[in-house]
Order: sequence, then structure tokens, then C-alpha cells
Amino acid sequence: FFIAVEGGDGAGKSTQVEALAEWIRGKGHEVVVTREPGATPIGKRLRAILLDVSSAGLSDRAEALLYAADRAEHVDTVVRPALERGAVVLSDRYIDSSVAYQGAGRDLSPTEIARISRWATDGLVPHLTVLLDISPQTARERFTEAPDRLESEPDAFHQRVRSGFLSLAAADPARYVVVDAGQEPEAVTTVVRHRLDQVLPL
Ligand code: C5P
Repeated sequence: FFIAVEGGDGAGKSTQVEALAEWIRGKGHEVVVTREPGATPIGKRLRAILLDVSSAGLSDRAEALLYAADRAEHVDTVVRPALERGAVVLSDRYIDSSVAYQGAGRDLSPTEIARISRWATDGLVPHLTVLLDISPQTARERFTEAPDRLESEPDAFHQRVRSGFLSLAAADPARYVVVDAGQEPEAVTTVVRHRLDQVLPL
């Protein structure tokens, strides 16, 4: 079973992914926690290029292809092997992040970004996506470290990203659990568990 956790910067994805993993392990399943970009050795190098502030001049198309390369390597070497042996895979970001950031956020077609991702993953779609929805203003208050290249983008960019995520969820509601991530982390965890309990076959 493959679950993606998506959301804007500062939505608290990594905290919720850890809580979710612990909960699903408690049900007796093997859980593989992974993330994009940067889950593989090559992916770590791509992540460094993508997030370094010195990559500010990176072209939009090159950026989209580097994310797709990271995803192809991730799916081939981590996600598919884990799913094949019956593990539950929890990925902190997946295709929707590309559609939202490189599509809606930059000036590229979300449809084309989705097509590149489909090719990069040979069509692997999550069974379920948890979207942690948060306003860019609330999210910004949570940043404690120096912002990376993307976190330095203006609120208007992050607002387009947020709308991009919400459009994806609205287009396929059966495959999404959308949660207000502006609440306290413990409250978000409770809501996510409650919602997943109703839809997870685990
Ligand atoms: O979620 P995480 O903090 O690991 O993501 C790293 C950075 O990469 C974030 O600032 C996020 O905005 C950016 N990102 C992106 N496009 C993606 C995935 C992540 O711009 N497809």
C-alpha cells in the first residue's frame, strides 16, 4: 500500500509522516518511510543542487527534469521494491509536489509535469494521498532555520502551490484526505488517523 503525504513548506509533513508510520507499524505492518527529493544516493546529490541558493538561475524545465530524475531513481530503487515485498510505503512528497511547485508555482503546464512524472514512475500512483493544507502566512511562522531556495520564494508563489495541491485533491476526492494543517501538530495527527481509519484497508 502506497501513501503519499503532500503539502506546502512548513505544513509539518515530516512530523505527520513519523506519527503515521508509528501508528501503521502498531497495526503490525512493515512501514518504509521515504521522501522526495533525496531518498537515494543520486537523489541526495540532486536535492543538494535543487535546494542550494546558488541554483537560483536554474531554468524551470531543467528543475522539473531534475525532480523527475530523482523520482525515477526513488521509485525504481526504493518504492517499488518495498511495495513488492508487501510493505506500506509512506512518502514525504511525490508527484503532486511537482505538479504544484513546478507546474502551478512556476510557469509550466501542470498537465505536462504530470505526464513527465507518469513516465518517470512508469505510472506508479499512490493508493492514497494525505494533503496537509496550510496558508503560506501560517507556514512561514513555523520556519526556524534559514530558508532554502524554495522557502525564499514570495507568498504569491506559495499561494499558487497551495491552489495547485487543492485542485489535484478536488479532481480526485476518493484518493485524497485533505487536512487543515494550521492546527497544533497533535490535533493534525488525530484528524489524520481518524480520517485514515475510515479509508485504509490496513
Ligand atoms: O519537503 P522538503 O522540505 O524536503 O522539500 C525541500 C524543498 O524542495 C522545499 O522547499 C520544497 O518547496 C521544494 N520542492 C519543490 N518541488 C518539488 C518538491 C520539493 O520545489 N517537487
